[in-house]
Amino acid sequence: MAATEAIAFIGIGNMGWPMAERLLRLGHLLVVSDASQERAARFAQEHGCRSATAGDALPLADVIVTMLPTSAVVEEVLCRRSPALRPGALVIEMSSGVPASTRAIAEQLTARGVRLIDAPVSGGVKRAMTGELAIMCGGAPEDVDRATPLLRLLGSSIVRTGAVGSAHAMKALNNLVSAVGFVAGIEALLIGRKFGLDPALMVDVLNASSGMNNSTQKKFKQFVLSSTFDSGFGLDLMAKDISIALDLAQGTKTAAPLSAACRELWSAAAAVLGPGRDHTEMARLSEMLAGVSLAAKGGTA
Ligand code: NAD
Repeated sequence: MAATEAIAFIGIGNMGWPMAERLLRLGHLLVVSDASQERAARFAQEHGCRSATAGDALPLADVIVTMLPTSAVVEEVLCRRSPALRPGALVIEMSSGVPASTRAIAEQLTARGVRLIDAPVSGGVKRAMTGELAIMCGGAPEDVDRATPLLRLLGSSIVRTGAVGSAHAMKALNNLVSAVGFVAGIEALLIGRKFGLDPALMVDVLNASSGMNNSTQKKFKQFVLSSTFDSGFGLDLMAKDISIALDLAQGTKTAAPLSAACRELWSAAAAVLGPGRDHTEMARLSEMLAGVSLAAKGGTA
């Protein structure tokens, strides 16, 4: 992908902001767009680029990067509300989405002469800032080839998963594993705390032992024991990903009882805690159920 191609970057949220920032810094031409025009305008002002509504930005773009909350929003922006897209344009759909919806969007776009790949990411805001995301790619090989130079600026691992929609399936399954690991770790800390063990010491032991996982390493001390709960990944978005994974289980007739219990817990946390919560606040629900807090100076919840 040539640096001279015009890129429309749609969705300048927690992830889109640092990703768009990297593309600009590394020499690409970008127009940014967000439902919050104030946020897009602030990004443009801080980075010396242009912001526009999606309606104005999309028809001029050779490449469209979407980093939006859900597939429903992606479909609304690209298909329902969209003006004429440039024939030959490539959509790089980097949100975490629903595989079947992604395929349906790709079909609608193909009929208009536009190509789409799904390229969801893992790694969170920190790795978005350093260009070290893990990127999964679903799509026709020639479309993925075309996107790869740009994706290399954002990720240190780029893995092809198969046809369009396959990367969104893989991403949901990754987050299912991450969500189960998070709850398993938090429940262990709660049991240990009630037994009399120190939560921070338990995290250290887990991280030196076979109980280690991404949450014990990168989330528990940083966001839960510290009570900062500011990882930059929303609880509603994690609950969405787990639901996508469970829908895949249902669609493939795969018994997944542990995953189903995990979905119940994350959905309950989203309902009990309300909107706008960080996903690490899932621990608060577990604390309520256990009747004890994990906070550094915590006592009974
Ligand atoms: P976010 O909520 O911070 O950002 C989404 C942005 O999209 C917001 O700025 C919002 O205003 C904008 N938006 C919503 N509707 C829109 C519309 N109709 N038109 C234009 N803009 C619109 O979310 P995020 O954390 O940046 O996540 C984006 C996607 O990446 C999600 O699918 C999420 O599941 C996935 N993801 C997030 C993380 C993370 O750590 N935050 C990690 C990996 C994947």
